[in-house]
Amino acid sequence: MDKCVVLVVEDDLPVRNLITTTLKAHDYRYLIARNGKDAIMETSSHNPDVIFLDLGLPDMDGVDVIQRIRTWSNVPVIVISARSEDSDKIRALDAGADDYLTKPFSVEELLARLRVTQRRLAMMQNGESARSSVFINGDLRIDYAAGCAWMGDKELHLTPIEYRLLCLLAQNAGKVLTHTFITQKIWGSSWENDVASLRVFMATLRKKIEKDPSAPQYIQTHVGVGYRMMHQKK
Ligand code: CA
Repeated sequence: MDKCVVLVVEDDLPVRNLITTTLKAHDYRYLIARNGKDAIMETSSHNPDVIFLDLGLPDMDGVDVIQRIRTWSNVPVIVISARSEDSDKIRALDAGADDYLTKPFSVEELLARLRVTQRRLAMMQNGESARSSVFINGDLRIDYAAGCAWMGDKELHLTPIEYRLLCLLAQNAGKVLTHTFITQKIWGSSWENDVASLRVFMATLRKKIEKDPSAPQYIQTHVGVGYRMMHQKK
């Protein structure tokens, strides 16, 4: 595989340097944009594999940058947000971002997010995506056509909502899905009650698929934000 090209969109020099130094040290190629306009231009002309996007840019709202890019590209976007920008983080995910990093972040976190994204990219390129009628991730197997799921050789007995929840997470594996996105897809609404129900269904689903529901391996919780299905290492 060619070296992964990362576009770093950040106006803050120390943060940008931290990211580019880390990327260089780990053998990634990178491009730089200091504002939203350049981010859109660099994306269209150089087709990066992954974008790190700061939400607080001098010329544009980072969420608008995502919306613009999503009109023609599915490139994974990892947003970088300050701790005070929690609602922006959720808006960014709903606009099509894949993941987020909260400032201040460590080099290890940065690299971990990149690895998750690269695994997702590799799965997409191998055609193991939502187009296939059977989803396989570690011991988890979902046969969309038959409407059933297995963990290893054991068939899972899921309620219709648990099954839809599992499929939604599987079809977006590697990506953080917000509470709003999930409840809209499952119930068509997103009232506070729906988010509370989601928590309940997620707990029962986990009991059925996780070996240790208190240390989940398949479905990750993002407190106050949402959930993500993790790709399992082969
Ligand atoms: Ca900034």
